[in-house]
Amino acid sequence: MRFDGVFEKTLIIVKPDGVQRSLIGEVIKRLETKGLKIAGLKLMYLSEDKLREHYAHHVEKPFYPGLEGFMKSSPVAVICAEGRGAVDAVRLIAGITHAGKADAGTIRGDLAMGMCNVVHCSDSIENAQAEIARFFEDGEVFEYDKTEYLHVYMDDERA
Ligand code: ADP
Repeated sequence: MRFDGVFEKTLIIVKPDGVQRSLIGEVIKRLETKGLKIAGLKLMYLSEDKLREHYAHHVEKPFYPGLEGFMKSSPVAVICAEGRGAVDAVRLIAGITHAGKADAGTIRGDLAMGMCNVVHCSDSIENAQAEIARFFEDGEVFEYDKTEYLHVYMDDERA
């Protein structure tokens, strides 16, 4: 069965605090049970160059050296997830930046207390495309049918 509409891909990083606290599975579980499809998944160390590109909007800020050191402190899990409206859906289930103030029910609200906030997720479709290209090589993001989509999106097709 084909589903119309725009299916987006978005990028999620389980940061070093999430890896060290054994939360990779918890994050993946929340993405999957939401109805998102895992299209890419791997562990990697983030280089200084990649981090400076990824956090270009923060490089000049006083907290950047600490952020870079933290992000290099262990491997991270990078995840490409796909679904209709996936970028906004993942931002919603991730919660706001300061985990201590994030809503209960969100990944950050349920699992963290401050700026060590377990996950990064793309904030726009344009950034998602750039971030997926930054962290995944050709052939590491997969296109495949997911039978579950029938149940995840069936109501949308009728509307
Ligand atoms: P988000 O991760 O919610 O998209 P930002 O892009 O603004 O938020 O920030 C990237 C990451 O940088 C945050 O998730 C957090 O880990 C860290 N960060 C942001 N602002 C600060 C700050 N004032 N002090 C320390 N770390 C920060």
